[in-house]
Amino acid sequence: MIPPGLTASVFSQALAELRRIVGDEWVFTGEDVELYRDAYSPLWGEPDERLASAAVAPERVEQVQRIVRVANAYRLPLYTISTGRNLAYGGSAPVYSGSVVLDLKRMNRILEVSEPNAYALVEPGVSYFDLYRYIRERGLKLWIDTPDPGWGSPVGNALDHGAGYTPLPFRDHLDAHCGMEVVLADGEIVRTGMGALPTARTWQQFRYGIGPFMDGIFSQSNFGIVTKMGFWLYPQPEAFRAGTVKAVKHDDIIPFVEILASLMYSGTVNCHLGISSPVFNGPADAAFDALIATLDGGSAAEWDRYAAAHGKHFWETELHFYGPAKVIEAQWSHVQERFAAIPGIAFADGVSYRFPLTDEQISRVGDRVSLGIPSLGIYAGLLPQRGEPPSTGHMDFSPVLPMTGKAILEAHKVFTRTLREGDIEPKYGIVQSFHWRSFILFYGFPVTHDVETNKKIRATYQKMIRVAADHGWGVYRTHAAFMDSAVSTYSYNDHALHRLHERLKDALDPNGILAAGRYGIWPRHLRQDKPRRGQP
Ligand SMILES: Cc1cc2nc3c(=O)[nH]c(=O)nc-3n(C[C@H](O)[C@H](O)[C@H](O)COP(=O)(O)OP(=O)(O)OC[C@H]3O[C@@H](n4cnc5c(N)ncnc54)[C@H](O)[C@@H]3O)c2cc1C
Repeated sequence: MIPPGLTASVFSQALAELRRIVGDEWVFTGEDVELYRDAYSPLWGEPDERLASAAVAPERVEQVQRIVRVANAYRLPLYTISTGRNLAYGGSAPVYSGSVVLDLKRMNRILEVSEPNAYALVEPGVSYFDLYRYIRERGLKLWIDTPDPGWGSPVGNALDHGAGYTPLPFRDHLDAHCGMEVVLADGEIVRTGMGALPTARTWQQFRYGIGPFMDGIFSQSNFGIVTKMGFWLYPQPEAFRAGTVKAVKHDDIIPFVEILASLMYSGTVNCHLGISSPVFNGPADAAFDALIATLDGGSAAEWDRYAAAHGKHFWETELHFYGPAKVIEAQWSHVQERFAAIPGIAFADGVSYRFPLTDEQISRVGDRVSLGIPSLGIYAGLLPQRGEPPSTGHMDFSPVLPMTGKAILEAHKVFTRTLREGDIEPKYGIVQSFHWRSFILFYGFPVTHDVETNKKIRATYQKMIRVAADHGWGVYRTHAAFMDSAVSTYSYNDHALHRLHERLKDALDPNGILAAGRYGIWPRHLRQDKPRRGQP
Protein backbone atom coordinates (compact mmCIF):
# COMPACT_ATOMS: atom_id res chain seq x y z
CA MET A 1 0.00 0.00 0.00
CA ILE A 2 1.12 3.55 -0.77
CA PRO A 3 -0.11 6.59 1.17
CA PRO A 4 -2.83 8.38 -0.83
CA GLY A 5 -1.45 11.32 -2.80
CA LEU A 6 2.11 9.96 -3.00
CA THR A 7 3.69 8.09 -5.90
CA ALA A 8 5.57 4.86 -5.29
CA SER A 9 8.89 6.55 -5.94
CA VAL A 10 8.21 9.52 -3.64
CA PHE A 11 7.08 7.08 -0.94
CA SER A 12 10.26 5.07 -1.24
CA GLN A 13 12.34 8.26 -1.02
CA ALA A 14 10.44 9.20 2.15
CA LEU A 15 11.06 5.74 3.62
CA ALA A 16 14.75 6.04 2.77
CA GLU A 17 14.85 9.29 4.77
CA LEU A 18 13.13 7.57 7.69
CA ARG A 19 15.71 4.76 7.55
CA ARG A 20 18.49 7.32 7.75
CA ILE A 21 16.92 8.63 10.97
CA VAL A 22 16.15 5.39 12.85
CA GLY A 23 18.23 2.75 11.05
CA ASP A 24 17.06 0.17 8.49
CA GLU A 25 15.76 -2.32 11.02
CA TRP A 26 13.28 0.14 12.51
CA VAL A 27 11.34 0.94 9.35
CA PHE A 28 8.81 -1.78 8.64
CA THR A 29 7.35 -2.53 5.23
CA GLY A 30 5.88 -5.54 3.45
CA GLU A 31 4.58 -8.39 5.55
CA ASP A 32 5.81 -6.78 8.81
CA VAL A 33 3.08 -4.17 8.36
CA GLU A 34 0.48 -6.94 8.78
CA LEU A 35 1.30 -6.80 12.48
CA TYR A 36 -0.28 -3.35 12.64
CA ARG A 37 -3.64 -4.65 11.38
CA ASP A 38 -6.51 -4.29 13.80
CA ALA A 39 -7.39 -7.90 14.61
CA TYR A 40 -10.73 -6.65 15.98
CA SER A 41 -11.59 -4.52 12.95
CA PRO A 42 -15.31 -4.54 12.14
CA LEU A 43 -14.19 -3.83 8.55
CA TRP A 44 -11.82 -6.82 8.38
CA GLY A 45 -11.07 -7.82 4.78
CA GLU A 46 -13.29 -5.09 3.29
CA PRO A 47 -12.09 -2.23 1.08
CA ASP A 48 -12.67 0.27 3.92
CA GLU A 49 -10.53 -1.60 6.47
CA ARG A 50 -7.99 0.87 7.87
CA LEU A 51 -4.49 -0.29 6.92
CA ALA A 52 -1.01 1.10 7.42
CA SER A 53 1.43 1.50 4.52
CA ALA A 54 4.56 1.15 6.71
CA ALA A 55 5.76 1.76 10.25
CA VAL A 56 8.69 3.56 11.83
CA ALA A 57 9.92 3.09 15.38
CA PRO A 58 12.14 5.86 16.77
CA GLU A 59 14.04 5.52 20.03
CA ARG A 60 14.51 9.13 21.05
CA VAL A 61 12.55 12.34 20.94
CA GLU A 62 15.01 13.99 18.52
CA GLN A 63 14.26 11.20 16.05
CA VAL A 64 10.55 11.92 16.42
CA GLN A 65 11.24 15.56 15.57
CA ARG A 66 13.20 14.58 12.46
CA ILE A 67 10.50 12.11 11.35
CA VAL A 68 7.88 14.83 11.60
CA ARG A 69 9.98 17.15 9.45
CA VAL A 70 10.33 14.45 6.78
CA ALA A 71 6.57 13.85 6.95
CA ASN A 72 5.93 17.55 6.32
CA ALA A 73 8.33 17.64 3.41
CA TYR A 74 6.74 14.59 1.73
CA ARG A 75 3.13 15.10 2.97
CA LEU A 76 3.47 11.68 4.54
CA PRO A 77 0.52 10.84 6.82
CA LEU A 78 1.66 9.50 10.22
CA TYR A 79 -0.33 7.67 12.88
CA THR A 80 1.17 7.65 16.38
CA ILE A 81 0.81 4.72 18.77
CA SER A 82 2.46 4.12 22.12
CA THR A 83 2.16 0.37 22.74
CA GLY A 84 -0.56 0.02 20.09
CA ARG A 85 -2.81 -2.36 22.04
CA ASN A 86 -5.96 -0.35 21.50
CA LEU A 87 -8.05 -3.43 20.67
CA ALA A 88 -11.78 -2.70 20.69
CA TYR A 89 -11.07 0.87 19.57
CA GLY A 90 -8.88 0.39 16.48
CA GLY A 91 -5.82 -1.59 17.63
CA SER A 92 -2.60 -0.23 16.16
CA ALA A 93 -4.11 0.48 12.74
CA PRO A 94 -4.42 4.08 11.57
CA VAL A 95 -7.78 5.82 11.15
CA TYR A 96 -6.71 6.97 7.66
CA SER A 97 -5.60 4.09 5.44
CA GLY A 98 -2.13 4.46 4.00
CA SER A 99 -0.71 6.27 7.03
CA VAL A 100 2.72 5.30 8.32
CA VAL A 101 2.44 4.11 11.91
CA LEU A 102 4.77 6.06 14.19
CA ASP A 103 5.36 3.30 16.72
CA LEU A 104 6.83 4.63 19.99
CA LYS A 105 7.35 1.24 21.64
CA ARG A 106 11.14 1.70 21.75
CA MET A 107 10.78 4.89 23.76
CA ASN A 108 10.24 2.83 26.89
CA ARG A 109 12.18 4.52 29.67
CA ILE A 110 10.75 4.97 33.12
CA LEU A 111 12.30 8.35 33.77
CA GLU A 112 11.38 8.85 37.41
CA VAL A 113 9.30 7.28 40.13
CA SER A 114 8.95 9.27 43.34
CA GLU A 115 7.82 7.26 46.34
CA PRO A 116 7.34 10.19 48.75
CA ASN A 117 5.36 12.23 46.26
CA ALA A 118 3.72 9.23 44.57
CA TYR A 119 4.20 9.91 40.86
CA ALA A 120 5.90 8.50 37.79
CA LEU A 121 7.26 10.11 34.63
CA VAL A 122 7.28 7.71 31.69
CA GLU A 123 7.82 7.49 27.96
CA PRO A 124 5.08 6.19 25.65
CA GLY A 125 6.50 2.69 25.18
CA VAL A 126 6.38 1.90 28.92
CA SER A 127 3.68 -0.69 29.53
CA TYR A 128 1.64 -1.24 32.68
CA PHE A 129 3.61 -4.45 33.21
CA ASP A 130 6.90 -2.50 32.95
CA LEU A 131 5.86 0.12 35.48
CA TYR A 132 4.40 -2.45 37.86
CA ARG A 133 7.57 -4.57 37.77
CA TYR A 134 9.79 -1.52 38.28
CA ILE A 135 7.86 -0.60 41.43
CA ARG A 136 7.62 -4.14 42.77
CA GLU A 137 11.28 -4.97 42.18
CA ARG A 138 12.26 -1.95 44.26
CA GLY A 139 9.68 -2.64 46.97
CA LEU A 140 8.18 0.85 46.62
CA LYS A 141 4.95 1.37 48.51
CA LEU A 142 3.07 2.54 45.46
CA TRP A 143 0.31 1.16 43.26
CA ILE A 144 -0.29 1.78 39.61
CA ASP A 145 -3.76 1.72 38.11
CA THR A 146 -4.11 -0.59 35.12
CA PRO A 147 -6.88 -1.21 32.60
CA ASP A 148 -7.93 -4.82 32.08
CA PRO A 149 -5.13 -5.73 29.65
CA GLY A 150 -1.75 -4.92 31.24
CA TRP A 151 0.18 -4.87 27.96
CA GLY A 152 -1.01 -1.36 27.07
CA SER A 153 0.66 1.85 28.17
CA PRO A 154 -0.18 4.59 30.65
CA VAL A 155 0.45 7.15 27.87
CA GLY A 156 -1.57 5.53 25.03
CA ASN A 157 -4.41 4.54 27.31
CA ALA A 158 -4.70 7.96 28.97
CA LEU A 159 -4.64 9.71 25.59
CA ASP A 160 -7.69 7.68 24.54
CA HIS A 161 -9.47 8.51 27.84
CA GLY A 162 -8.94 4.99 29.15
CA ALA A 163 -9.62 3.86 32.68
CA GLY A 164 -8.88 1.19 35.28
CA TYR A 165 -10.16 -0.20 38.56
CA THR A 166 -8.59 1.34 41.69
CA PRO A 167 -9.99 4.44 43.46
CA LEU A 168 -10.36 7.83 41.81
CA PRO A 169 -8.58 9.86 40.64
CA PHE A 170 -6.12 7.08 39.76
CA ARG A 171 -8.46 4.99 37.61
CA ASP A 172 -9.39 7.89 35.30
CA HIS A 173 -6.04 7.91 33.59
CA LEU A 174 -6.15 11.33 31.97
CA ASP A 175 -7.42 12.79 35.23
CA ALA A 176 -4.49 11.19 37.06
CA HIS A 177 -1.85 12.54 34.69
CA CYS A 178 0.34 15.51 35.53
CA GLY A 179 2.51 17.10 32.86
CA MET A 180 3.23 16.20 29.25
CA GLU A 181 6.01 16.61 26.74
CA VAL A 182 4.66 16.92 23.21
CA VAL A 183 6.27 17.12 19.77
CA LEU A 184 4.08 19.34 17.61
CA ALA A 185 3.46 18.74 13.92
CA ASP A 186 6.27 21.17 12.97
CA GLY A 187 8.75 19.33 15.20
CA GLU A 188 8.76 21.80 18.09
CA ILE A 189 8.89 20.33 21.62
CA VAL A 190 6.46 21.72 24.19
CA ARG A 191 6.24 20.86 27.88
CA THR A 192 2.91 21.55 29.53
CA GLY A 193 2.10 22.83 33.01
CA MET A 194 5.12 23.37 35.25
CA GLY A 195 7.28 21.63 32.63
CA ALA A 196 7.44 24.96 30.79
CA LEU A 197 9.51 26.38 33.65
CA PRO A 198 13.08 25.42 32.74
CA THR A 199 13.98 24.94 36.42
CA ALA A 200 10.69 23.18 37.28
CA ARG A 201 10.60 21.09 40.44
CA THR A 202 6.88 20.33 40.39
CA TRP A 203 6.20 19.17 36.80
CA GLN A 204 4.49 16.03 38.13
CA GLN A 205 2.87 17.78 41.10
CA PHE A 206 1.07 20.85 39.76
CA ARG A 207 -0.81 20.44 36.55
CA TYR A 208 -1.72 23.93 35.49
CA GLY A 209 1.52 25.91 35.32
CA ILE A 210 0.37 29.29 34.08
CA GLY A 211 -1.98 30.30 31.30
CA PRO A 212 -4.49 28.09 29.46
CA PHE A 213 -4.47 24.43 30.50
CA MET A 214 -3.39 22.74 27.26
CA ASP A 215 -3.09 19.05 28.10
CA GLY A 216 -6.63 18.05 27.18
CA ILE A 217 -6.22 19.03 23.53
CA PHE A 218 -3.66 16.25 23.06
CA SER A 219 -6.11 13.52 24.08
CA GLN A 220 -8.51 11.92 21.58
CA SER A 221 -7.04 14.26 19.00
CA ASN A 222 -4.27 14.58 16.44
CA PHE A 223 -2.59 17.82 17.48
CA GLY A 224 0.73 16.42 18.68
CA ILE A 225 2.88 13.43 19.58
CA VAL A 226 3.18 12.92 23.32
CA THR A 227 6.70 11.81 24.22
CA LYS A 228 6.58 11.95 28.04
CA MET A 229 3.79 11.98 30.56
CA GLY A 230 3.58 12.15 34.33
CA PHE A 231 1.07 10.12 36.37
CA TRP A 232 -0.01 10.26 39.97
CA LEU A 233 0.29 6.92 41.73
CA TYR A 234 -1.71 5.55 44.64
CA PRO A 235 0.25 5.13 47.89
CA GLN A 236 -0.16 1.47 48.84
CA PRO A 237 -3.21 1.22 51.13
CA GLU A 238 -3.09 -0.81 54.32
CA ALA A 239 -6.06 -3.01 53.44
CA PHE A 240 -8.85 -3.87 51.00
CA ARG A 241 -12.26 -5.39 51.44
CA ALA A 242 -15.10 -6.18 49.06
CA GLY A 243 -18.82 -6.37 49.74
CA THR A 244 -21.81 -7.09 47.52
CA VAL A 245 -25.19 -5.36 47.60
CA LYS A 246 -28.22 -6.99 45.96
CA ALA A 247 -31.65 -5.46 45.30
CA VAL A 248 -34.67 -7.52 44.40
CA LYS A 249 -37.07 -5.38 42.41
CA HIS A 250 -37.08 -3.49 39.13
CA ASP A 251 -37.75 -0.07 40.72
CA ASP A 252 -35.22 -0.62 43.52
CA ILE A 253 -32.63 0.82 41.16
CA ILE A 254 -34.05 4.31 41.80
CA PRO A 255 -33.22 4.51 45.56
CA PHE A 256 -30.23 2.19 44.97
CA VAL A 257 -28.50 4.74 42.74
CA GLU A 258 -29.65 7.70 44.83
CA ILE A 259 -27.93 6.19 47.88
CA LEU A 260 -24.90 5.11 45.88
CA ALA A 261 -24.47 8.52 44.27
CA SER A 262 -24.63 10.30 47.62
CA LEU A 263 -22.02 7.87 49.00
CA MET A 264 -19.85 8.46 45.96
CA TYR A 265 -20.16 12.25 45.88
CA SER A 266 -19.23 12.44 49.54
CA GLY A 267 -16.25 10.07 49.11
CA THR A 268 -17.42 7.12 51.27
CA VAL A 269 -17.54 4.97 48.14
CA ASN A 270 -14.67 5.73 45.79
CA CYS A 271 -14.16 2.46 43.98
CA HIS A 272 -14.83 1.31 40.48
CA LEU A 273 -18.11 -0.58 40.45
CA GLY A 274 -20.32 -2.32 37.98
CA ILE A 275 -24.08 -2.48 38.38
CA SER A 276 -25.24 -5.65 36.72
CA SER A 277 -28.73 -6.99 36.30
CA PRO A 278 -29.23 -10.75 36.31
CA VAL A 279 -32.48 -10.01 34.45
CA PHE A 280 -31.25 -7.69 31.70
CA ASN A 281 -27.88 -9.44 31.41
CA GLY A 282 -29.29 -12.95 31.50
CA PRO A 283 -30.29 -15.09 28.53
CA ALA A 284 -33.42 -13.77 26.83
CA ASP A 285 -36.47 -15.94 26.23
CA ALA A 286 -39.79 -15.32 24.46
CA ALA A 287 -41.31 -13.62 27.53
CA PHE A 288 -38.26 -11.33 27.78
CA ASP A 289 -38.55 -10.36 24.11
CA ALA A 290 -42.26 -9.69 24.42
CA LEU A 291 -41.71 -7.28 27.33
CA ILE A 292 -38.82 -5.42 25.69
CA ALA A 293 -40.81 -5.01 22.49
CA THR A 294 -43.67 -3.17 24.23
CA LEU A 295 -43.92 0.59 23.89
CA ASP A 296 -42.55 1.36 27.39
CA GLY A 297 -40.20 -1.65 27.43
CA GLY A 298 -42.25 -3.36 30.15
CA SER A 299 -43.70 -1.99 33.40
CA ALA A 300 -42.11 -2.51 36.82
CA ALA A 301 -44.85 -4.96 37.82
CA GLU A 302 -44.43 -7.00 34.62
CA TRP A 303 -40.66 -7.19 35.06
CA ASP A 304 -40.97 -8.11 38.75
CA ARG A 305 -43.27 -10.99 37.78
CA TYR A 306 -40.77 -12.04 35.11
CA ALA A 307 -37.83 -11.90 37.55
CA ALA A 308 -39.73 -13.84 40.23
CA ALA A 309 -40.77 -16.51 37.72
CA HIS A 310 -37.11 -16.94 36.76
CA GLY A 311 -35.87 -16.91 40.35
CA LYS A 312 -33.73 -13.81 39.77
CA HIS A 313 -33.07 -10.65 41.74
CA PHE A 314 -32.87 -7.48 39.69
CA TRP A 315 -29.67 -5.59 40.55
CA GLU A 316 -26.33 -6.10 42.17
CA THR A 317 -23.02 -4.39 42.65
CA GLU A 318 -19.72 -5.26 44.28
CA LEU A 319 -18.11 -2.44 46.23
CA HIS A 320 -14.42 -2.20 47.10
CA PHE A 321 -12.91 -0.28 49.97
CA TYR A 322 -9.26 0.71 50.24
CA GLY A 323 -7.43 2.22 53.17
CA PRO A 324 -6.70 1.68 56.86
CA ALA A 325 -8.38 -1.58 57.96
CA LYS A 326 -10.46 0.10 60.68
CA VAL A 327 -11.63 2.85 58.37
CA ILE A 328 -12.78 0.54 55.57
CA GLU A 329 -14.71 -1.67 57.99
CA ALA A 330 -16.51 1.45 59.20
CA GLN A 331 -17.19 2.52 55.59
CA TRP A 332 -18.68 -0.87 54.68
CA SER A 333 -20.92 -0.89 57.73
CA HIS A 334 -22.04 2.69 57.00
CA VAL A 335 -22.83 1.68 53.43
CA GLN A 336 -24.98 -1.21 54.70
CA GLU A 337 -26.85 1.12 57.06
CA ARG A 338 -27.64 3.47 54.19
CA PHE A 339 -28.80 0.73 51.77
CA ALA A 340 -30.93 -0.88 54.49
CA ALA A 341 -33.56 1.73 53.60
CA ILE A 342 -34.45 -0.45 50.57
CA PRO A 343 -36.79 -3.34 51.54
CA GLY A 344 -35.32 -6.76 50.79
CA ILE A 345 -31.77 -5.48 50.21
CA ALA A 346 -29.11 -8.13 50.82
CA PHE A 347 -25.40 -7.87 51.61
CA ALA A 348 -22.54 -10.31 51.34
CA ASP A 349 -18.96 -9.88 52.54
CA GLY A 350 -16.33 -10.40 49.87
CA VAL A 351 -12.58 -10.93 49.91
CA SER A 352 -10.25 -8.85 52.06
CA TYR A 353 -6.49 -8.32 51.92
CA ARG A 354 -3.66 -6.70 53.87
CA PHE A 355 -0.80 -5.26 51.84
CA PRO A 356 1.79 -5.90 50.65
CA LEU A 357 0.87 -9.26 49.15
CA THR A 358 3.47 -11.95 48.51
CA ASP A 359 3.88 -13.37 45.00
CA GLU A 360 2.15 -16.50 46.19
CA GLN A 361 -0.82 -14.51 47.50
CA ILE A 362 -1.00 -12.57 44.23
CA SER A 363 -1.12 -15.80 42.26
CA ARG A 364 -4.41 -16.58 44.04
CA VAL A 365 -6.04 -13.16 43.47
CA GLY A 366 -8.89 -13.45 40.97
CA ASP A 367 -9.62 -9.78 40.32
CA ARG A 368 -6.07 -8.42 40.02
CA VAL A 369 -6.82 -5.15 38.30
CA SER A 370 -8.81 -3.95 41.34
CA LEU A 371 -5.49 -4.12 43.21
CA GLY A 372 -3.58 -2.35 40.44
CA ILE A 373 -1.89 -5.59 39.34
CA PRO A 374 -1.62 -5.89 35.54
CA SER A 375 -2.84 -9.04 33.89
CA LEU A 376 -4.05 -10.43 30.56
CA GLY A 377 -6.65 -12.63 32.23
CA ILE A 378 -9.52 -10.67 30.69
CA TYR A 379 -8.86 -12.25 27.30
CA ALA A 380 -9.61 -15.72 28.65
CA GLY A 381 -12.79 -14.38 30.24
CA LEU A 382 -14.02 -13.04 26.91
CA LEU A 383 -13.50 -16.17 24.85
CA PRO A 384 -16.79 -17.29 23.30
CA GLN A 385 -18.63 -19.53 25.74
CA ARG A 386 -20.19 -22.83 24.76
CA GLY A 387 -23.11 -22.16 22.44
CA GLU A 388 -22.04 -18.56 21.69
CA PRO A 389 -21.39 -17.74 18.03
CA PRO A 390 -17.67 -17.50 17.22
CA SER A 391 -16.15 -14.01 17.26
CA THR A 392 -12.63 -12.69 16.86
CA GLY A 393 -13.00 -9.87 19.34
CA HIS A 394 -15.27 -7.05 20.37
CA MET A 395 -15.98 -3.34 20.07
CA ASP A 396 -17.23 -1.42 23.06
CA PHE A 397 -20.35 0.66 22.68
CA SER A 398 -20.11 2.99 25.66
CA PRO A 399 -22.66 5.77 26.21
CA VAL A 400 -22.32 8.07 29.23
CA LEU A 401 -25.37 8.03 31.52
CA PRO A 402 -26.44 10.32 34.34
CA MET A 403 -26.16 8.73 37.80
CA THR A 404 -29.82 7.95 38.23
CA GLY A 405 -31.76 4.71 38.42
CA LYS A 406 -34.27 6.10 35.94
CA ALA A 407 -31.55 6.54 33.30
CA ILE A 408 -30.25 3.01 33.91
CA LEU A 409 -33.72 1.53 33.42
CA GLU A 410 -34.44 3.57 30.33
CA ALA A 411 -31.05 2.84 28.77
CA HIS A 412 -31.31 -0.91 29.39
CA LYS A 413 -34.71 -1.06 27.75
CA VAL A 414 -33.94 1.24 24.82
CA PHE A 415 -30.64 -0.42 23.96
CA THR A 416 -31.80 -3.98 24.57
CA ARG A 417 -34.65 -3.36 22.14
CA THR A 418 -32.28 -1.96 19.50
CA LEU A 419 -29.89 -4.88 19.99
CA ARG A 420 -32.65 -7.46 19.68
CA GLU A 421 -34.07 -5.75 16.59
CA GLY A 422 -30.61 -6.04 15.04
CA ASP A 423 -30.26 -9.64 16.24
CA ILE A 424 -27.08 -8.81 18.17
CA GLU A 425 -26.16 -10.72 21.31
CA PRO A 426 -23.71 -8.47 23.19
CA LYS A 427 -20.91 -10.10 25.17
CA TYR A 428 -21.92 -7.98 28.16
CA GLY A 429 -24.07 -4.96 28.98
CA ILE A 430 -22.96 -3.52 32.31
CA VAL A 431 -23.18 -0.11 33.92
CA GLN A 432 -19.80 0.92 35.29
CA SER A 433 -18.42 3.83 37.24
CA PHE A 434 -15.05 4.93 35.95
CA HIS A 435 -15.54 8.66 36.51
CA TRP A 436 -16.56 11.00 39.33
CA ARG A 437 -20.12 11.91 38.37
CA SER A 438 -21.47 9.69 35.59
CA PHE A 439 -21.90 6.06 34.63
CA ILE A 440 -21.01 4.35 31.37
CA LEU A 441 -23.14 1.50 30.07
CA PHE A 442 -20.76 -0.82 28.25
CA TYR A 443 -22.02 -3.22 25.59
CA GLY A 444 -19.45 -5.57 24.07
CA PHE A 445 -20.33 -5.90 20.39
CA PRO A 446 -18.85 -9.11 18.98
CA VAL A 447 -16.79 -8.68 15.80
CA THR A 448 -15.80 -11.43 13.44
CA HIS A 449 -13.76 -11.89 10.29
CA ASP A 450 -16.92 -12.63 8.33
CA VAL A 451 -17.95 -9.72 6.10
CA GLU A 452 -21.72 -10.30 6.18
CA THR A 453 -21.83 -10.74 9.97
CA ASN A 454 -19.74 -7.61 10.44
CA LYS A 455 -22.07 -5.60 8.19
CA LYS A 456 -24.98 -6.57 10.43
CA ILE A 457 -23.01 -5.69 13.55
CA ARG A 458 -21.97 -2.32 12.15
CA ALA A 459 -25.51 -1.40 11.19
CA THR A 460 -26.71 -1.93 14.77
CA TYR A 461 -23.68 -0.21 16.31
CA GLN A 462 -24.35 2.78 14.06
CA LYS A 463 -28.01 2.80 15.06
CA MET A 464 -27.08 2.62 18.75
CA ILE A 465 -24.95 5.78 18.41
CA ARG A 466 -27.99 7.60 17.00
CA VAL A 467 -30.42 6.14 19.54
CA ALA A 468 -28.05 7.10 22.37
CA ALA A 469 -27.71 10.67 21.14
CA ASP A 470 -31.49 11.00 20.75
CA HIS A 471 -31.77 10.18 24.45
CA GLY A 472 -29.00 12.57 25.51
CA TRP A 473 -26.33 9.92 26.02
CA GLY A 474 -23.15 10.49 23.99
CA VAL A 475 -20.46 7.83 23.69
CA TYR A 476 -17.18 8.61 25.48
CA ARG A 477 -14.86 6.72 23.12
CA THR A 478 -15.32 4.64 20.01
CA HIS A 479 -13.70 2.40 17.43
CA ALA A 480 -11.83 4.16 14.60
CA ALA A 481 -14.53 3.09 12.13
CA PHE A 482 -17.19 5.05 14.03
CA MET A 483 -15.32 8.17 15.09
CA ASP A 484 -16.98 10.40 12.48
CA SER A 485 -20.45 9.18 13.38
CA ALA A 486 -19.89 9.52 17.12
CA VAL A 487 -18.41 13.01 16.83
CA SER A 488 -21.23 14.12 14.51
CA THR A 489 -23.75 13.60 17.34
CA TYR A 490 -21.98 16.27 19.44
CA SER A 491 -23.61 18.85 17.21
CA TYR A 492 -24.64 21.75 19.47
CA ASN A 493 -24.73 25.06 17.56
CA ASP A 494 -24.06 23.60 14.15
CA HIS A 495 -21.15 21.41 15.32
CA ALA A 496 -19.33 24.40 16.87
CA LEU A 497 -17.08 22.19 19.02
CA HIS A 498 -16.05 20.07 16.07
CA ARG A 499 -15.38 23.18 14.00
CA LEU A 500 -13.17 24.46 16.81
CA HIS A 501 -11.23 21.18 16.65
CA GLU A 502 -10.79 21.71 12.91
CA ARG A 503 -9.57 25.27 13.44
CA LEU A 504 -6.99 24.01 15.93
CA LYS A 505 -5.97 21.31 13.46
CA ASP A 506 -5.43 23.85 10.70
CA ALA A 507 -3.34 26.06 12.97
CA LEU A 508 -1.20 23.31 14.52
CA ASP A 509 -0.85 20.89 11.62
CA PRO A 510 -1.50 22.77 8.38
CA ASN A 511 -0.14 19.93 6.22
CA GLY A 512 -2.35 17.44 8.03
CA ILE A 513 0.41 14.91 8.68
CA LEU A 514 -0.70 13.72 12.14
CA ALA A 515 -3.33 10.97 12.65
CA ALA A 516 -5.81 12.18 10.04
CA GLY A 517 -9.39 11.36 11.04
CA ARG A 518 -8.76 10.59 14.70
CA TYR A 519 -11.97 11.44 16.53
CA GLY A 520 -13.40 12.91 13.34
CA ILE A 521 -10.72 15.57 12.97
CA TRP A 522 -9.61 15.57 9.35
CA PRO A 523 -7.04 17.89 7.85
CA ARG A 524 -8.45 20.48 5.47
CA HIS A 525 -7.42 18.60 2.31
CA LEU A 526 -9.39 15.48 3.35
CA ARG A 527 -12.57 17.09 4.65
CA GLN A 528 -14.55 16.86 1.43
CA ASP A 529 -15.02 13.07 1.81
CA LYS A 530 -16.43 13.41 5.31
CA PRO A 531 -20.12 12.61 4.71
CA ARG A 532 -19.22 9.25 3.21
CA ARG A 533 -16.92 8.43 6.10
CA GLY A 534 -19.80 8.91 8.55
CA GLN A 535 -21.49 5.75 7.17
CA PRO A 536 -19.26 2.78 7.96
C1 LIG B 1 -10.59 -7.44 26.43
C2 LIG B 1 -10.29 -5.97 26.49
C3 LIG B 1 -10.42 -5.27 27.69
C4 LIG B 1 -10.16 -3.91 27.72
N1 LIG B 1 -10.26 -3.25 28.92
C5 LIG B 1 -9.99 -1.94 28.98
C6 LIG B 1 -10.06 -1.25 30.22
O1 LIG B 1 -10.30 -1.82 31.28
N2 LIG B 1 -9.83 0.10 30.21
C7 LIG B 1 -9.50 0.75 29.08
O2 LIG B 1 -9.28 1.95 29.12
N3 LIG B 1 -9.40 0.10 27.90
C8 LIG B 1 -9.63 -1.21 27.82
N4 LIG B 1 -9.50 -1.86 26.62
C9 LIG B 1 -9.12 -1.10 25.42
C10 LIG B 1 -7.58 -1.08 25.16
O3 LIG B 1 -7.09 -2.39 25.07
C11 LIG B 1 -6.79 -0.33 26.21
O4 LIG B 1 -7.33 0.95 26.39
C12 LIG B 1 -5.30 -0.20 25.87
O5 LIG B 1 -4.57 0.23 26.99
C13 LIG B 1 -5.05 0.79 24.73
O6 LIG B 1 -3.87 0.44 24.11
P1 LIG B 1 -2.48 1.18 24.38
O7 LIG B 1 -2.38 1.50 25.83
O8 LIG B 1 -1.42 0.35 23.77
O9 LIG B 1 -2.67 2.56 23.60
P2 LIG B 1 -2.21 2.85 22.10
O10 LIG B 1 -2.84 1.88 21.20
O11 LIG B 1 -0.75 3.03 22.04
O12 LIG B 1 -2.86 4.29 21.96
C14 LIG B 1 -4.23 4.51 21.79
C15 LIG B 1 -4.44 5.65 20.81
O13 LIG B 1 -4.00 6.87 21.42
C16 LIG B 1 -3.27 7.68 20.46
N5 LIG B 1 -1.89 7.78 20.94
C17 LIG B 1 -1.20 6.80 21.54
N6 LIG B 1 0.02 7.24 21.88
C18 LIG B 1 0.10 8.50 21.49
C19 LIG B 1 1.11 9.48 21.62
N7 LIG B 1 2.26 9.19 22.24
N8 LIG B 1 0.88 10.71 21.13
C20 LIG B 1 -0.31 11.00 20.52
N9 LIG B 1 -1.31 10.11 20.39
C21 LIG B 1 -1.11 8.88 20.88
C22 LIG B 1 -3.35 6.94 19.14
O14 LIG B 1 -4.43 7.46 18.38
C23 LIG B 1 -3.61 5.51 19.54
O15 LIG B 1 -4.33 4.79 18.57
C24 LIG B 1 -9.77 -3.22 26.54
C25 LIG B 1 -9.66 -3.93 25.35
C26 LIG B 1 -9.90 -5.29 25.33
C27 LIG B 1 -9.74 -6.01 24.04
